[in-house]
Amino acid sequence: MTAQLNPCGDVAVLVPAAGAGIRLGPGAPKALRPLAGEPLLVHAVRRIAAAPSVHTIVVAAPVADVPAVRDLLAPVAPVTVVPGGAQRQDSVAAALAAVPAGPGIVLVHDAARALVPAELVESVAAAVRSGHDAVIPVLPVVDTVKEVSADEVVRGTVDRSVLRAVQTPQGFRRAVLAAAHAAAVDPLTDDAGLVEKQGVPVVCVPGSEYAMKITRPFDLALAEHLLTVRA
Ligand code: C5P
Repeated sequence: MTAQLNPCGDVAVLVPAAGAGIRLGPGAPKALRPLAGEPLLVHAVRRIAAAPSVHTIVVAAPVADVPAVRDLLAPVAPVTVVPGGAQRQDSVAAALAAVPAGPGIVLVHDAARALVPAELVESVAAAVRSGHDAVIPVLPVVDTVKEVSADEVVRGTVDRSVLRAVQTPQGFRRAVLAAAHAAAVDPLTDDAGLVEKQGVPVVCVPGSEYAMKITRPFDLALAEHLLTVRA
């Protein structure tokens, strides 16, 4: 059944999904790789659409796949699909430009985090709504982390108690994200990085193991298992 978004909601979610996904091995663009019989992007959009505050979803798809992605998502939720760019940051900027007037909160969520719980979408949005300009979901780092030289010799051990692994959705007051993208010079791997460069404080909220990034074949196998266990 097609999900209904909330016409009174205050949240737009941008989903950059235009990456090649080379680390998953040869095949379709990553967002279109199957997980338990459905593309990663379908799983992600279904979960985002289940979050009660979501008013708008904009997906940035690989240029060649825009019509196919529109057809794919039409039965899932009302979604705007735009062509992505060469870098993730370009894809996010293209999606941001397609957000209609209205939503004052913008979340950016990687399609590769296909099992994101709707509760995490809501908790990030709620933290922005409560007055924070920029919010990221994080998990503690459990491994010991070493800094190494180019020839793989250990230089030192990093204090992991001050480190966090960062997930998406990352949430922003709309004007803050728009200003950060307008000022962006170098491509970064996340949107909070752009906002940090503007001197805007970025606040952490608890992330979710289910928002894991599906990057390598092992992650795909783990995600399939999690879906089976949950079912
Ligand atoms: O490559 P990486 O894993 O950092 O990609 C994170 C997300 O950004 C993925 O969902 C991917 O599809 C998306 N992306 C994009 N446009 C690009 C590169 C990546 O939308 N040019």
